[in-house]
Amino acid sequence: MKIVVVGGVAAGASVAARARRLDEDAEIVILERGHHVSFANCGLPYHIGEVIKDRDRLLVQTPESLRELLNIDVRVGHEVTSIDRNTKTITVRNVDTGEEYTEVYDSLALCPGAKPVNIPIPGVDLPQVQVLRRISDMDRIKSLVDKRLADSGKHDRTKAVVIGAGYIGLEMAENLHRRGVQVTVVEASDQILPPVDREIAMPVMNHLRTRGIELYLSAAAAAIVPKSDRRVSVELKNHVTLDADLVVMSVGVRPATALAVEAGLDLGPHGGIKVDEHMATSDPHIWAAGDVVETPHPVLPGTYLTPLAGPANRQGRVVADNICGRDSVYESTQGTSIVKIFDMVVGGTGATERQLNQAEIPYRAVHVHPSGHAGYYPGTAMMHIKALFDPETGKLLGAQVSGFDGVDKRLDTLAMAVRQGMTVFDLEEVELAYAPPFGSAKDPVNMVGFVGSNTIRKDITLWYAQEFPEVAEDAKIVDVRTPEEFDIWHLPGAVNVPIAQFREVSADWDPEMRVLLYCAVGFRSYLAHRILVQRGFKDVRTLSGGSTTFRAWHEIENEGAAPQEAEETYSAAAARPVTTTVPGKQIELDCTGLACPGPIMKLSKTMADLNAGDEVSVTVSDPGFAQDGPAWALANGHTVLDISPEGPGYVMRVCAGGDTAVASGSAVGQATGDNREGVSFVVFSGDLDKVLAAFIIANGALAMGQPVRMFFTFWGLNALRRENPPAREKKALDKMFAAMMPSGPDSLKLSQMNMGGAGTAMIKKVMRDHDVQSVSELIQAAIEAGAELTACTMTMDLLGIAREELIDGVELGGVASFIAASDASASTLFI
Ligand code: FAD
Repeated sequence: MKIVVVGGVAAGASVAARARRLDEDAEIVILERGHHVSFANCGLPYHIGEVIKDRDRLLVQTPESLRELLNIDVRVGHEVTSIDRNTKTITVRNVDTGEEYTEVYDSLALCPGAKPVNIPIPGVDLPQVQVLRRISDMDRIKSLVDKRLADSGKHDRTKAVVIGAGYIGLEMAENLHRRGVQVTVVEASDQILPPVDREIAMPVMNHLRTRGIELYLSAAAAAIVPKSDRRVSVELKNHVTLDADLVVMSVGVRPATALAVEAGLDLGPHGGIKVDEHMATSDPHIWAAGDVVETPHPVLPGTYLTPLAGPANRQGRVVADNICGRDSVYESTQGTSIVKIFDMVVGGTGATERQLNQAEIPYRAVHVHPSGHAGYYPGTAMMHIKALFDPETGKLLGAQVSGFDGVDKRLDTLAMAVRQGMTVFDLEEVELAYAPPFGSAKDPVNMVGFVGSNTIRKDITLWYAQEFPEVAEDAKIVDVRTPEEFDIWHLPGAVNVPIAQFREVSADWDPEMRVLLYCAVGFRSYLAHRILVQRGFKDVRTLSGGSTTFRAWHEIENEGAAPQEAEETYSAAAARPVTTTVPGKQIELDCTGLACPGPIMKLSKTMADLNAGDEVSVTVSDPGFAQDGPAWALANGHTVLDISPEGPGYVMRVCAGGDTAVASGSAVGQATGDNREGVSFVVFSGDLDKVLAAFIIANGALAMGQPVRMFFTFWGLNALRRENPPAREKKALDKMFAAMMPSGPDSLKLSQMNMGGAGTAMIKKVMRDHDVQSVSELIQAAIEAGAELTACTMTMDLLGIAREELIDGVELGGVASFIAASDASASTLFI
């Protein structure tokens, strides 16, 4: 028997090697167009990044080793150009000499893989524009990068643009960044990593940004034009232009079906070769495997292209089995995939929510956020798991995971569960390996089972981030987290009833009321949920995945716009070192493994015992701390000296503020230096009476000749908003905030006795009757008298407020600018 294999990498080499193990007498020929066989495509980005230093390690087998080990006739540089099915012959061309010859076969295995998709824009043929598929591509890209980096002393920093934020694009981004290249990723859709849903991709997107990768989402490349002999400009459709020494095109692949089409073999609906369960094509003597074929999915109807190495290898084995007379079956490809992006890991298996919606398959989703291993054992962080299952039977349909430690084993366990048709009830029962460095006694996979089963047993009813704000109509939104967490961020319209007081506070609530509960991840709200349900409440729901999932989902929508270089982001402002010297003692605080609010609670407890000027260096693995930590510190009168990414999370250095601030949260400290003068304010509140009081004092101080510096943060910022700001395209969540917050001083409401607006109207009338200036007049008077008004860039970032939405005469600044103002003032007030 003569077996001819077209293509000698993943699927092709598997066919040939397995066939030899089954039939020692067969004549086996591999025809490979390129100059390497059986190489590790998946390792190519890592050699460019010099993680895999030795290039030869990527050459898993060579023509010589396959010949020696398996007696296979391997011909590299030989391209199959046509198939004659009648005579069972193929035409082969030697790519180096141009010589052509024919070869007969008894069985032909087509494993030609896939071709990169080319986007039809001007400039894709420029030498700076590269794709990565083969060893030769890798060599070319690496030498280009090496050369540019060597030249970078003479020019500015080497820049690369990666077009496409799929797995390979992001691996390239990381590896180029590792080499010191400044990388920008451009992606046409509104999220990175299409194989996972947006709330799972979002933490990875944040992580990429914290590692210095610039991301443009919903942005398509329009043209690539030469700029100089070494540089090109990538022009995006949104009119942004990016300079690059290297452009990596990574926008997907198409099956290489030219031979099959010309030979008249049947194709599937997605353009791949159609095969049966034995991997046989429509010709009984021709088989196919790898990226070129379409295969069924275990959950979705129809067949799909799934260009992955594992399926290609397994399909190759099935082809060889059947050629050699074994009745092997290839059932389906579920698309289990995983990628490492800097310190994060993300992957999925089975169907995504998007795919289930497209296929109109009923499903239910749950989100859980456990840590990778026991929180008290160092080196863990929160992971994000989304599981999709049949709402009636609980059968698992798909799962996605992102996080730091332990992602791969949860993903693989869930992949096994999908493959075996297991249910969420089965996941409750699975017994998985546990010791503190590896997991928890209730493994994250068990947690998926518990939450999923609870929904089917109706112990809990969920609501979802994407249903907001419509879902909130006529409902009481209750946040059962602590006041500290609530102050940092909460859902618009939510009331705070911490779980510790929940039984008591909710005792007289009307059971007919619709209640939407949430906490950070879904556990505390589940407790509240059970209290209400057992009290006879009929319409209670808990937010799936809590505020962690909510923030991920909605912030993804926010990321559609390009990063704005001109405006300083909150993270940048927070990270900017403050020159204040720290005179007190220095404390190291380890909060790794603690999920929100753990780090804030521990930090708060630690700082309560410190004196002004003492410094804490807190290490946190919760990525959300980048926002929450500095916000908490600011709200409590402390100074963020520095915050920098480390491992899964951050290290923040924070200097304790005055004692009074820590104890009461009111005045932020009393300056005593002789050369200090004037008053500085932190205007935190957006209540009419408090803002009024702030400006009455400010104008009084100005009248007495004292300098006044006012820092507006959180709700206080509303006092500085213009009533009718210039039109600006806003992202979804920003729109919601904008609609729900008072737009300017004249829209502020009383902190007490507002009485649906009647109280506020009354006080304004009384003020007019007594000739008291309105808040907007007082603000104007203060500005004209020389008050320095600073809007907090962090709050602007959080609430999506742009510079042009603020009244004239306001500066922008971060913590550092406030601390400097406070340092220079004789007294500081927190209002
Ligand atoms: P290929 O491995 O592409 O091999 C096809 C071969 O056929 C090619 O060498 C080609 O030259 C040859 N050929 C084509 N036409 C002819 C012809 N007419 N005559 C002779 N020879 C021909 N998958 C994962 O699961 N995990 C990963 O981490 C991962 N990382 C990747 C990273 C990169 C950079 C790339 C490029 C791919 C990655 N993949 C990964 C995908 C995986 O490599 C492919 O799914 C797998 O290699 C497909 O195997 P295949 O045999 O079908 O095709």
